[in-house]
Amino acid sequence: MIIDGKKESELIRQEIKKEIDAIKSSNKKVPGLSVILIGNYPPSEIYVRNKQKSSIEVGINSEIIKYPKDVTENEVLKKIQDLNDNENVSGILVQLPLPEHISKKKIINMINPLKDVDGFNPINVGNLASGYKAIVPCTPLGCLLLIKKIEKNLTGKHAVIVGRSNLNGKPMAQLLLKENCTVTIVHSKTKDLKAECQKADILVAAVGVAKLIKADWIKKQSIVIDVGINKVGDKIVGDVNFDEVKDKVKAITPVPGGVGPMTIACLLKNTLECFKGR
Ligand code: NAP
Repeated sequence: MIIDGKKESELIRQEIKKEIDAIKSSNKKVPGLSVILIGNYPPSEIYVRNKQKSSIEVGINSEIIKYPKDVTENEVLKKIQDLNDNENVSGILVQLPLPEHISKKKIINMINPLKDVDGFNPINVGNLASGYKAIVPCTPLGCLLLIKKIEKNLTGKHAVIVGRSNLNGKPMAQLLLKENCTVTIVHSKTKDLKAECQKADILVAAVGVAKLIKADWIKKQSIVIDVGINKVGDKIVGDVNFDEVKDKVKAITPVPGGVGPMTIACLLKNTLECFKGR
């Protein structure tokens, strides 16, 4: 089965829109998302525009705050403080990567954890790791929702996550642990990547290496979630060799059209959750 991330994300957006319409019609304020974009890195500009377009479609008030790449760190920190204090702003997102002279750590720490729609603030990271309620990073949250569409009860499953980034691998591991999976994280220093992957009932690849994962790395009837986005010529491919793997597995996400659309849907979901107040 090929998992249709576009369709799943559309269902989530419809639910969010319905909920925001109901909030609006009872004359309450609507959620607001403020996105800070620094510099003119083209992929970031595209991501931010897509986030704004999707927000507006579901009824979220969305603003993009743009700064030139030589903006001072203090100016951005002050802006975040203003947004923290602004009751019309439910969610704050600072698009990464940042210019070198701006500390990612300081910026992420400045965002009020209750408005941290990316789930990167250490308070949310700690809450997730402790098994408490937390705002969860959008991509791993989207992956979990797709996995649970295929298999509701994940107890006892062996999950292998390829990649240990703060953005993807680590929060994915926390989410699957919470679902009672036995979790292995593998990375660039892992000795026998293939042997570890072969044990996976659920395999999540978040690496950034085109078609790294081959058919003989995959357990039959497993669920494979491909987070990777890699440009090969004029095509976008995942971290999994999709054509080789697809007939061997129970379910697999394509690239594009798998995890990508879920990431934005989960950003909208997180913004609504922040608005409702956790
Ligand atoms: P990242 O920060 O670069 O982390 C990559 C991880 O993969 C690291 O842990 C690294 O190991 C590991 N790795 C690299 N090469 C490896 C290899 N040959 N064998 C085993 N492990 C290897 O990347 P990321 O931000 O997590 O993103 C991963 C991919 O997901 C990228 O293609 C990115 O574009 C994509 N992405 C997609 C979405 C979406 O919405 N679909 C969202 C975010 C990211 P070490 O830690 O040892 O270096």
